[in-house]
Amino acid sequence: MRPELEKRLEAEFPGFFDGLGGFECRDGWFDLVRGLTARIKAILPDGAPFRVSCVKEKFAALRYYWDCEGIDDATRDEVDWLIEEAESASCRTCEDCGRPGVPRSGGWFNTLCDEHAKGRKPASFERAPGMSKIDGVIEEHRLFGLPKWPRRQAP
Ligand SMILES: [Zn+2]
Repeated sequence: MRPELEKRLEAEFPGFFDGLGGFECRDGWFDLVRGLTARIKAILPDGAPFRVSCVKEKFAALRYYWDCEGIDDATRDEVDWLIEEAESASCRTCEDCGRPGVPRSGGWFNTLCDEHAKGRKPASFERAPGMSKIDGVIEEHRLFGLPKWPRRQAP
């Protein structure tokens, strides 16, 4: 991500990205990362020490890893669900420009719009190189599955 976009995220969410080596995805996902972080911030208790340890693209999807001590399981589940939603949305969002896109193959995987795909074909994840069958199923679920929320029945 461009340094000025990374600086905007760091300024808008003080502390959240301390210790993050960098945002390892392209500019088109800026709004996704920003929106996700804002939603997480809104459900955290005041002063919760939320830290994002990794933001990256992997197999055409956003990955967002985090840690936060002292929050309850329900809040943890809600954070995870928000992340799953954003990861799912990332597979429909061009990583270059933020417009609608689909996962593309072509040596590696990226979610791209028609313009930025530059001819790369929509991906078939069953044939992903170097991916075990189980990994493939998990990735396919992550990429194309519906959000699993609510995982627990509401009380
Ligand atoms: Zn694009």
